[in-house]
Amino acid sequence: MEKLMPPILQINKLHVSIENKEILKGVDLVINEGESHVIMGPNGSGKSTLSYAVLGHPRYKIDSGDILLNGESILDWPTEKRARHGIFLSFQHPTAIPGVTVNNFLRSALKSSQEKELPIREFRKKLLNALDSLGMDSKFAGRYINDGFSGGEKKRAEILQLALLQPRLAILDEIDSGLDIDGLRLIADRIEGDSDSKRSFLLITHYQRLIEYLNIDRVHIFINGRIVKSGDKSLSERLEKDGYNWVEKELCV
Ligand code: ADP
Ligand code: MG
Repeated sequence: MEKLMPPILQINKLHVSIENKEILKGVDLVINEGESHVIMGPNGSGKSTLSYAVLGHPRYKIDSGDILLNGESILDWPTEKRARHGIFLSFQHPTAIPGVTVNNFLRSALKSSQEKELPIREFRKKLLNALDSLGMDSKFAGRYINDGFSGGEKKRAEILQLALLQPRLAILDEIDSGLDIDGLRLIADRIEGDSDSKRSFLLITHYQRLIEYLNIDRVHIFINGRIVKSGDKSLSERLEKDGYNWVEKELCV
């Protein structure tokens, strides 16, 4: 039966360049509400570029193609508007923000994503609940964001943000890199906890170990600026075992 709802994210023949160098060479991707998709691919193939393009980072130039959110083209939307409409991106390399505490950062992130400010007490309650559900110390909220954070703590700050903002489409770019087993479970629980909801996920990862914990609807192999093959979870198992060479041989990419 045909779906009545438009997909949450639809990417059509997307070509993107950075400083006149073409990075994305015709990406097609459809993610329906409630689905979790995985993108795997070699370093430098353009996976992060794809996530920045979806978020509308000004450095990434859309040469042609389209990005639709719930059936509507968002190419003209500034990043803030995309975030307000429920797109969230966790960065592969989060930067330190001097003088800004986790607490204040999250409060303003929540404010800009929801166009209204929660009363401070309500916000504190929400934050403490989120920290508690993630088994994190409440002192974490008072620390300066990413300043002196370990790799795992940076990722935990992103998971906290995810728990608090509850985005409709979360793009998680290598959120599992440098994460210990406990951190990995945290993020997996966070994703699975949302899986019966209408939330959708796009996970970019090199490893099978996060995927193992999750219900995944679709795995895409990304090589040289394109999705070259898609399949179910068994595709990620094959990649883990055999690497990317066989795909390149099979498809001559
Ligand atoms: P991946 O996430 O798959 O490792 P990226 O999207 O980060 O790949 O990078 C794809 C290509 O784009 C690489 O060749 C990289 O050097 C180039 N690139 C990415 N970001 C920039 C940038 N800000 N300026 C110039 N080149 C970039
Ligand atoms: Mg990347």
